[in-house]
Formats: sequence, structure tokens, C-alpha cells
Amino acid sequence: MNNFNSLDLRDGFLENLTSLNYIKMTDIQKKSLPLLLKNNNLIAQSKTGSGKTVSFSIPIVNKLKNDKFAIQSMIICPTRELANQVAKEIKKLCRFINNIKILTLCGGVPYKPQVHSLSHKAHIIVGTPGRLLKHISENNIELENIDTLVLDEADKMLDMGFYDDIIKIVEVLPKKRQNMLFSATYDEQIMDLSKSITDDAIFVKDESVH
Ligand code: ADP
Ligand code: MG
Repeated sequence: MNNFNSLDLRDGFLENLTSLNYIKMTDIQKKSLPLLLKNNNLIAQSKTGSGKTVSFSIPIVNKLKNDKFAIQSMIICPTRELANQVAKEIKKLCRFINNIKILTLCGGVPYKPQVHSLSHKAHIIVGTPGRLLKHISENNIELENIDTLVLDEADKMLDMGFYDDIIKIVEVLPKKRQNMLFSATYDEQIMDLSKSITDDAIFVKDESVH
């Protein structure tokens, strides 16, 4: 029950997790993964270092249609550093599948090359709110195949004043999608954000002692 081998994963995934030395799930992974793999909407409250990236990335990689070269998942992070970390983690998780393209779209780096990369398509995009919104406003991103949205470090994004940008992004995404919101803290603001994104999210909380 505590091991990744208790999950219903696509062929080759468990072997890849094992090779990455991911054997035993952390508390938040144990609570969120079975729900997420069944396509539920989820809010997860969990401390830094508890393994949230793997919690939202496994479901993304598990349902990824590698034969469909279109953006299927969007992950929104507060900073470029976090977005790069997430992209790196997903690259490791999907290395058993051929030719998966992950694009990072963050502020603080030149815009034009990102537009160029987007014209070559991708499967997954990871970015920061402002830059993602800019690309969306300028119609650089094909949104119609996106079926998964992740807000990583949602509390931090709210602290940084990204609420409006996030809402504007969510408004133009396909309505039929899985939503995952990860946050180290949980308060009224997070509840508001979550309600404007989905009305049936299941709440899970990391109870482990660090
Ligand atoms: P968070 O986002 O909750 O702060 P991360 O997703 O960045 O945490 O994970 C922290 C570290 O723990 C990373 O180095 C990651 O590779 C490692 N990790 C995550 N899940 C597991 C696991 N089940 N077993 C071993 N290491 C793990
Ligand atoms: Mg994290």
C-alpha cells in the first residue's frame, strides 16, 4: 500500500520509478496519487520537501498521450527556479516514453525564443503566471487539448499577487479538465482560488512529521 507498485500505472512506469529510487510513497503521495490517477480534482496541503512534484507529475505522465503532439498539461509555478525544477523532475519521470517534449515558459528570459519553441509544439508546459498569460493573450499557445491544470505552490503565487493572472488563464482553458492545487498552507484565500477553478475538489493533507 505504501509502495509505488500498489498504483495502477502504465507499462514501464514502475520500472522507471524504481530506477529513480522512488520505491516508497511519501504521505502526501500516498494520499493524493490514488485519487489523482482516477482523474479527481484535488487540493493538497503539504509541507516543503514532502514530494509534491512527484504527486502531480505521475498522474500527468501516466495519462499523457505520447502519440498526440499537443499540449495536454499546464503547470503554473510561482518562480522560474521552481518551474525549471518541476520540468527537470517530469523529464526524469517520463524518460521511459519516447520523444516527450516539455517546455518552460517563464518571465525573466527572452520572449521570442519561447514563441519559436511553441511553434514547434510540446506535450507539457510549465511556466510562471505572467509569462503564460502573455503567450495566451498573443495566441501563441494551443489550449484546446489541455486536460490537466496544476497550480504548484498556490499560496506563494497568491502572496506574489498572481491571483488575477491565474484566473485569466483558467478562464480560457478547456472546461473539461483535471485540476490539482498544491500548497504548503491552507486558508480562505486558497479556498477562494480553488473554488474559482473547480467546485468538486477533494482535500488531502500531509500529516507526516518532518
Ligand atoms: P515539495 O514540492 O513538496 O517541496 P519535492 O517534490 O521537491 O517536494 O521533493 C523533494 C525531494 O524528495 C526531491 O528531491 C524528490 O526527488 C524527493 N522525493 C519525492 N518523492 C520521493 C519518494 N517517494 N521517495 C524518495 N524521494 C522522493
Ligand atoms: Mg514543490
